[in-house]
Amino acid sequence: MEKFYVTSAIPYVNARPHLGHALEFVQADVISRFHRQKGEDVLLLSGSDDNALKNVQAAEQAGVPVEQFVEENGQLFFELAQALGVHLDIFQRGTSKEHHSSSQKLWELCRKAGDIYKDSYEGLYCVGCEVFYVRGELNEKGECPEHPGKKLEKVSEENYFFRLSKYQKQLVELLEKDELRIIPESRKNEMLAFLREPLQDISISRSNERARNWGVPVPEDEGQRMYVWFDALNIYQSGIGFGSDEGKYKKWWPADVQVIGKGIARFHAVYWPAFLLSAGLPLPKVLFVHGYLTVEGKKMSKSVGNVVDPFELIERYGADALRYFLLREIPASEDGDYSREKFETRYNADLASGLGNLTARVLTLAEKNKMKVPKRVGDRLGSALRGAKEKLEQDLSEFQFGSALGAIWELITICDRYIEAKKPWEESEEQEEVIADLMFVLREIGDMLKPFLPETSERIVAQLKTGKGESLFPRIAS
Ligand SMILES: [Zn+2]
Repeated sequence: MEKFYVTSAIPYVNARPHLGHALEFVQADVISRFHRQKGEDVLLLSGSDDNALKNVQAAEQAGVPVEQFVEENGQLFFELAQALGVHLDIFQRGTSKEHHSSSQKLWELCRKAGDIYKDSYEGLYCVGCEVFYVRGELNEKGECPEHPGKKLEKVSEENYFFRLSKYQKQLVELLEKDELRIIPESRKNEMLAFLREPLQDISISRSNERARNWGVPVPEDEGQRMYVWFDALNIYQSGIGFGSDEGKYKKWWPADVQVIGKGIARFHAVYWPAFLLSAGLPLPKVLFVHGYLTVEGKKMSKSVGNVVDPFELIERYGADALRYFLLREIPASEDGDYSREKFETRYNADLASGLGNLTARVLTLAEKNKMKVPKRVGDRLGSALRGAKEKLEQDLSEFQFGSALGAIWELITICDRYIEAKKPWEESEEQEEVIADLMFVLREIGDMLKPFLPETSERIVAQLKTGKGESLFPRIAS
């Protein structure tokens, strides 16, 4: 059996998860479920980036010990995945013992390759990004592009550095030849543009003092902790046994797809492969980069007060309704916008009407005529079904979730038209054949929905089995 290893990014746990985290979980889940459905041996990993300095600062502000703070927030991310119906096989915590020793192993491998050295450093640091910036990367006001309005800290200290510059040529080649494939193409070009400038070596540790004694200790130097990105990226490996269970690690690594947001593309397309090259370890195959979610056209932020709580939406509309919105309305690899109105419009039009309505109609016909799902489908709907399946397969292999769902909804429309044309509620010679075709295609629709809307998929298949319909998505009154 072929193995397939998918990861979501490893979120900071300095606050509760928001709707953007839900988007990423769901995308990674669809990819993994799609491969599971094909019969592959699949593993989906996520985890929590517990060791970031901004977790420490957020904990201080909340007046809670940092251990407790990251434990509680990390748990919320795990619970969000569960509430969304995301099938996580592993949720690896940055605080776990095996993660610490695993990251130290990665460090040792890079050090033995001659790629880690000690030097002093002064630079402009953004705590929000946990990264040093050079002037050319800042916005016109001299601020972090991800955190405009926040002051950068001038930091000078003696750190360990990673010889990133040594890997510049190799990285360009890997990206150009798609050996590390970046999807979409626009992000790949962005990374290649970044690699056209001379690469600076990067700091990969900080003093205990600045790290507030939090994070993974540097091997053989009690005064330093690993810089958060060095260990956070390694969660992808520590979670599958790197340094603790070599058999398991060899089975799963390298990752087949890593799903990330655009803001951390550089860490995954440049730093991460460089660490792995240095350590002599295989590289992930594909980076799939999604965009950001805005709320009514504005960036989600605490200060604006427009942070959308995914738990609330799940409670109100159900996990599958939220999954559908995120996958259909938000372009898979670009920015997208959420509003309550857009959500409810999609819900009523596509779920309550489209899918819900077709299911109810077909089940009513099946119940009345006491029919069972047939073994095959006639030509009339059969060719539409084959076309939809091909499109779905193609779109999903390119991570085009919205377009893949579009193919299913086109099929729903074709079924609706078929019903209008054939009027199977009236007795006729072909009445039974028409209902049988519809039942067959509806079951296939249920099957095709499995990676996207797992619970709804099960309900459709179960209803067809028992021959009893019940409402899938009750209409929202406006
Ligand atoms: Zn920043």
